[in-house]
Amino acid sequence: MNPSPDTHTSAPDRLPQRVRHELRFRQLQVRSTERITPHLIRITLEGEQLAGFHSPGFDDHAKLFFPDAETGELRVPTAGPDGLVWPPGPKPAMRDYTPRRHDAAAGTLEIDFALHDAGPATKWAETARPGDLVGVGGPRGSFIVPTSFDWHLLIGDDTALPAISRRLAELPAGAKVVVLAEVDAEADQIPLPTAAALELHWVHRAGATASGAESPLLARLRELALPAGDFHAWVGCESAAAKALRAHLVAERGAHPRWIRASGYWRRGASATHDSHDSHDD
Ligand SMILES: Cc1cc2nc3c(=O)[nH]c(=O)nc-3n(C[C@H](O)[C@H](O)[C@H](O)COP(=O)(O)OP(=O)(O)OC[C@H]3O[C@@H](n4cnc5c(N)ncnc54)[C@H](O)[C@@H]3O)c2cc1C
Repeated sequence: MNPSPDTHTSAPDRLPQRVRHELRFRQLQVRSTERITPHLIRITLEGEQLAGFHSPGFDDHAKLFFPDAETGELRVPTAGPDGLVWPPGPKPAMRDYTPRRHDAAAGTLEIDFALHDAGPATKWAETARPGDLVGVGGPRGSFIVPTSFDWHLLIGDDTALPAISRRLAELPAGAKVVVLAEVDAEADQIPLPTAAALELHWVHRAGATASGAESPLLARLRELALPAGDFHAWVGCESAAAKALRAHLVAERGAHPRWIRASGYWRRGASATHDSHDSHDD
């Protein structure tokens, strides 16, 4: 289906609102770890410095700082008037993760780590034990996406399951939502509780990692008949796949470019990337 011309020329209402937060860096400890699926570890963090943690946006991210793999030393910056101030020594490995669940009353913060072949974050999560330290910076800002669309589309791989879970938890009863979620196999599927009316499509990549092939998410999306009406689309997965999904949604599915948020949560062959594909020029 091609978009109607006025869909793309009129200024849309219901634009996401950007909210800024004071940037804080924390040192937290692992309280517990749990293997949720073969490819997902949930790590619950705690600590006095968690006080005041604030994450109102479902796709917020925090920067995690990992201890030196050899010495175990954790170096976390502080926010100074002229930027970040680092303690002496090499900078730590840093990666972006979604605050999956913050329970202020219990003093806990849950992070879900999708496991893949290699990388300091994955390695840390696989070996983390209660009492281990980790640094947490931010979130420094949030996007608040209105819920008043005719329906919602959420597309992502394992790395986006925390954000998708949060969005599903905040959508009101009766909201219509279509989810395409890619994991390796059926054993990697997780419960996605929601009060909304959910149409859920699990997509299995079954070990496929070919870089030239079309992403399994896009292949499945092409087959889907989507609901009528205006919608907000959110995409979080491998960067080239996120870009292709966004292009398909705008060109073929009538998605309004201002009502899409498509991010590369990782990029094949590169470490520590975060690509936004929302130029808003289209
Ligand atoms: C805003 C944002 C929020 C995110 N939230 C989460 C989250 O809540 N949970 C989560 O698990 N991830 C999340 N990610 C993704 C995570 O930051 C990346 O997967 C990160 O690269 C993992 O770091 P690493 O040290 O394990 O691997 P890296 O050292 O960064 O990468 C090593 C190699 O592994 C590849 N690689 C990286 N990630 C994957 C993957 N998922 N599958 C296959 N190959 C991969 C890279 O291409 C590279 O070749 C988020 C990313 C962003 C930008």
